[in-house]
Amino acid sequence: MIEIEKVHKSFKDLEVIKGVDLTVQKGEVVSIVGGSGSGKSTLLMCINGLENIQSGSIRVDGTEVHAKGTDINKLRQKIGIVFQQWNAFPHLNVLENVMLAPRKVLGKSRAEAEELAVKQLTHVGLADKLKVFPGKLSGGQQQRMAIARALAMSPDYMLFDEATSALDPQLVGEVLDTMRLLAEDGMTMILVTHEIPFARDVSDRVAFFREGLVHEIGPPDQVIDNPQKPETAAFLKSVV
Ligand code: ADP
Ligand code: MG
Repeated sequence: MIEIEKVHKSFKDLEVIKGVDLTVQKGEVVSIVGGSGSGKSTLLMCINGLENIQSGSIRVDGTEVHAKGTDINKLRQKIGIVFQQWNAFPHLNVLENVMLAPRKVLGKSRAEAEELAVKQLTHVGLADKLKVFPGKLSGGQQQRMAIARALAMSPDYMLFDEATSALDPQLVGEVLDTMRLLAEDGMTMILVTHEIPFARDVSDRVAFFREGLVHEIGPPDQVIDNPQKPETAAFLKSVV
């Protein structure tokens, strides 16, 4: 479970997270939607400890992310993250790219890492691309490789930050389908996305972010289909 309580986060004088509360239960899929600059990416970075916070707390399975004694590297192994783009190592093939973290971080043997990587690459539909170099993949295939790479670490949580935003429109669907499968498998996910119909489909709850706060949160049939706040409605109108 991810518990975010009264989190404030500033970059110098600029406060970008202004007291966010959000709890994500095991197995839950929560989408975060909202305008550019509202603090969505920053929140994800705080959750996996890539950014510090000024006050409040974030706990992952009860462990305080920003506490002094926390083994942040160990905690991060539980949390897979997929960004708009991941720059794979160009001189390693797809299989080797996905094997890297299990080998280096988890200390898996070559055979074990390969088994994990093949399993996850098969899961995302890239079983026929194992020996291909990343530069030869389409954008959609590269993002699916990024998902496989995160999954090869056997995370308990997956965070997606606009995983399809950099893709040509015709490639978006294959990546969303992969994310949908993961959601259906019961993965606990937080996804920042502008794909509103997708968010409506896969999410247990949708959070509308505005100016560093959760402005409205609830099931998709409320937040997306019947928003209670005028700002939520206005945002949704602006993205379709
Ligand atoms: P979103 O993902 O919702 O578009 P971000 O979390 O990326 O928003 O950014 C929120 C605000 O924080 C923006 O004003 C952005 O310019 C600022 N910001 C993000 N990262 C940094 C940083 N590393 N240093 C300074 N300001 C930042
Ligand atoms: Mg962002």
